[in-house]
Amino acid sequence: LGSSLRGTLDRLQGKTRLDEEDVEEVVREIQRSLIQADVEIDLVMELSDSIEQRALEEEPPGGTTARDFVLRIVYEEMVDLVGESTDLPLEPQTILLAGLQGSGKTTTAAKMAWWFSKKGLRPAVIQTDTFRPGAYDQAKEMAERAEVTFYGDPDADDPVQIARDGLAATEEADIHIVDTAGRHALEEGLIDEIQEIDAVVEPDRSLLVMDAALGQGAKDQAQRFEEAIGIDGVAITKLDGTAKGGGALTAVNETDSSIAFLGTGETVQDVERFEPNGFISRLLGMGDLKQLAERVERAMADTDTDEEDWDPEDILEGQFTLKDMRHQMDAMNKMGPLDQVLDMIPGLGGGIKDQLPDDAMDVTQDRMRSFDIVMDSMTEDELENPRSIGASQTRRIARGSGQPEERVQELLEQHRMMERTLKQFQGMGDADMQRMMKR
Ligand code: GDP
Ligand code: MG
Repeated sequence: LGSSLRGTLDRLQGKTRLDEEDVEEVVREIQRSLIQADVEIDLVMELSDSIEQRALEEEPPGGTTARDFVLRIVYEEMVDLVGESTDLPLEPQTILLAGLQGSGKTTTAAKMAWWFSKKGLRPAVIQTDTFRPGAYDQAKEMAERAEVTFYGDPDADDPVQIARDGLAATEEADIHIVDTAGRHALEEGLIDEIQEIDAVVEPDRSLLVMDAALGQGAKDQAQRFEEAIGIDGVAITKLDGTAKGGGALTAVNETDSSIAFLGTGETVQDVERFEPNGFISRLLGMGDLKQLAERVERAMADTDTDEEDWDPEDILEGQFTLKDMRHQMDAMNKMGPLDQVLDMIPGLGGGIKDQLPDDAMDVTQDRMRSFDIVMDSMTEDELENPRSIGASQTRRIARGSGQPEERVQELLEQHRMMERTLKQFQGMGDADMQRMMKR
């Protein structure tokens, strides 16, 4: 379904502004992708409302396409929701893992221990699951594979006592990861037990371990564990499967926490620290959204400086760069075709217009958009000195912008033509002229 979102967005590629219909279509596709990824429906609506509002209210910066603009908004709103990775300082601490049976706690305990050991710390895994047969052996084996200290007691039946003994027995370690039992459902016993363990362990952080495939159940689970022990972060497991982990958004939202780790396989090395970009891009089935958001941001910054630098008077003094042309194009985009604009300027009526070459100012909307894309791939110097652009630069610009070389040449030809035309105006230097240049 990410592909239909991509399809919708690609249709916006050539547009510089979004109408209401475009926004609605994008928002619908985003909703579909998020629901497909198991994001809770209330959250989907909340997200899509704010995306829709911003897309309709905010002005796309010059030099960005409508597609990039709306994607940036989507990315920002999603980052806002999932937040940055759970803070995990590389210092001594105790971490308690909670979650239902089969969610991946024991695996995650070993993975986290391995991760911390790679950071130069000395982790210990303490296994307190007395409920599940084989839990001790499984945890011990995984801790061995991670090459970290392990504590457990296959003969004991009091998880709270094991936790207490375990902390004492692994005093030398600086990271204590306490693994707990999970049951099939959230029955009272489980919650009582983890509360007691929590009281003894006094963890610095409690993480909720959640299967990526957990969809609408995420809310209830997150609420119960949050009430019982307070959740500081979420570890999502089994992201190597088809599930996208949208339930984690619910959990993060319910517990007012963030995501700490991602589990991407069955071995102890299959663990990643959470990073919003990859996760969100995957959730939406899109490419690298962060890179794109940054590109739009850069374009916005560029536009801002351009505004400051841009002085219509320069044109009157004989300087007509591609940047000026771009401003002209932007202005035309807002006002309509230039010949109509000329009609609106008193004293610049028919006479002068008739002297212009027919297609001097005839830049259609589509051509303007592709020119915009071409100019995005030019260097500052090329924009300032278009006459310096030779054949090899033309090739490079074409490749970089994904436009045919002819389009680059066309742009340069258009620029030359406009420049020639403007030269005819030069010397007029009156208020009318200035008004024409200003937006
Ligand atoms: P626990 O009951 O919460 O302790 O869950 P376990 O750690 O025993 O994991 C349950 C099952 O899920 C085991 O078969 C694990 O190998 C598997 N598992 C856990 N994490 C991952 C993961 O990130 N990817 C895959 N493919 N399997 C995982
Ligand atoms: Mg377990």
